[in-house]
Amino acid sequence: MTDPRFSGIGMTSARTRDRLIQRLRDQGITNLTVLDRIRNLPRHIFMDEALASRAYEDIALPIGFGQTISQPYIVARMTEALLNGPALKQVLEVGTGCGYQTAVLAPLVERIYTIERIEGLQKRARLRLKELGIRNVRFKVGDGSIGWRTQAPFDGILVAAAPLVVPEELIAQLAVGGRLIVPAGPEGKQQLLCLVRGEQGIERRVLAEVSFVPLVGGVG
Ligand code: SAH
Repeated sequence: MTDPRFSGIGMTSARTRDRLIQRLRDQGITNLTVLDRIRNLPRHIFMDEALASRAYEDIALPIGFGQTISQPYIVARMTEALLNGPALKQVLEVGTGCGYQTAVLAPLVERIYTIERIEGLQKRARLRLKELGIRNVRFKVGDGSIGWRTQAPFDGILVAAAPLVVPEELIAQLAVGGRLIVPAGPEGKQQLLCLVRGEQGIERRVLAEVSFVPLVGGVG
């Protein structure tokens, strides 16, 4: 990555990014592949220039259309949880947003299918990933709560917005051994869950208390 926009200066420089990585470590993120990827991927290019100087703070920030780019800690935690199993070939992501989480994950898996309900966000995400030279992602505008049937089953599914209850359709699209990382519950009471499809059925674990934008039905 030689483009000067990507390497960053001042508040987007390598030193600022290293501080973020230290913070993620302090919060318990241990997967070095994930930490390295977050260190090397510029987050500031995913947001408006006016907010770029805050890109390496561990906070969610607005990306337009009433949505936010996920907090780096959450991206790290979800990616770590998703990678905590056999190598991932087919991954489904629901809630592309600005594409940051997609870009973190892309080099760590074989292929990502990502769904976003807001077309304007999807267009921008597509452009950014292209600029970054990421080519193993397929995009779709639509309602991700019904998954992507023609590409199922998936080894991993990552959901970046919170349904009240985990959609059955997403569970149905998990391959045996596949993992679904999803926040669920009403606002103020959401939990990040990890569901794994075993030979005998679904195993369900709570990873953390979290706060996500709601998963909305229909195309906006
Ligand atoms: N990981 C993203 C976070 C985006 S926030 C990032 O780093 O930018 C969650 C996204 O989920 C929003 O863009 C929202 O529009 C989208 N979303 C909400 N409900 C959805 C649905 N049913 N299907 C697809 N996308 C949805």
